[in-house]
Amino acid sequence: MSKLALGTVCSVRVYQKAEPSVFTAVFKRLSEIEDIFSPHIYSSNLNSINENSGVSTVRVPNELIFVLKTALYYAEISDGAFNPALGPLIQLWDIGGDNPRIPSPVEIENALSLCSWRDVEINEDDGTVFLRKDGMALDLGAIVKGYAADETARILKEAGVKKALIDFGGNILALGAKQEAGFLRKEILWRIGVQDPVKERGDYVAAISVKDATLVTSGVYERFFEKNGVRYHHILSFKTGMPVENSLASVTIIQAADAEYASMQADALSTTIFALGCEQGPSFLQKFPGTEAVFILKTGEIMETDGLKGRLSK
Ligand code: ADP
Ligand code: MG
Repeated sequence: MSKLALGTVCSVRVYQKAEPSVFTAVFKRLSEIEDIFSPHIYSSNLNSINENSGVSTVRVPNELIFVLKTALYYAEISDGAFNPALGPLIQLWDIGGDNPRIPSPVEIENALSLCSWRDVEINEDDGTVFLRKDGMALDLGAIVKGYAADETARILKEAGVKKALIDFGGNILALGAKQEAGFLRKEILWRIGVQDPVKERGDYVAAISVKDATLVTSGVYERFFEKNGVRYHHILSFKTGMPVENSLASVTIIQAADAEYASMQADALSTTIFALGCEQGPSFLQKFPGTEAVFILKTGEIMETDGLKGRLSK
């Protein structure tokens, strides 16, 4: 079953008999998550934090604090390559929105002065968030689809589902195996395609065989606009105020799904590694044992971490 949610096509496929009410529960939950985290829904909790920047603290649901804390952790360890407080800059470019444009250097400078993640204040005891400067804005778009995939997996598992494929716009969580090992029945793994960053959606450059895993990709092709033959994509640099420019076309993070909030971690990590680029990315990844990655360079070269050897077909 597929629906538009979280700014993308959200598809949940269950590979066994399941009550229709499972899908109702999942999509209800996705719309709840959207009502909390969407920067495009005026009444969202996230917007209420942004509206009150520089003015007052805002009480928010615990889950927003949980996801925001994770995002701030990635900001800290990547020295801002991942930045959940990039809202003013993201709004300025409006990539993927109705009026994308190349801002002037002055506009970029002004926006960047309001993008410090160190000015985000969380008070866990009170359950509140405060942005210290007027005009600051959070954007959790780089992590929330992963969180939503984890929540979906939790609901499915609680309903007894063991085999399912969750795909939220390239943020994938494969539950169980396509077919479980059983008496004389060979286990069949999921084969997940890695999108070719320069081709049509659905054109894959490689496939990875997995079970119980999450695979999350960040790339130059996901959202972008073109002007005078130049492509401006949607992952922005806190240092230059421009789309991140390096030798990577995309990065896919692969992680076992049984780790806590695995897809959220993989989502944060894919954006972080993409922003860090091919020079710093691979060594940064070593801080996360058990996490594998596929890097696709702009030259078309494909590189994968050692743990994927034998599981990746090109
Ligand atoms: P996608 O949403 O296409 O799956 P990502 O998970 O990489 O891709 O998230 C990209 C989104 O994150 C952007 O659309 C924007 O909302 C936000 N964003 C852009 N640059 C950054 C950054 N450097 N750090 C954190 N979030 C970012
Ligand atoms: Mg991400």
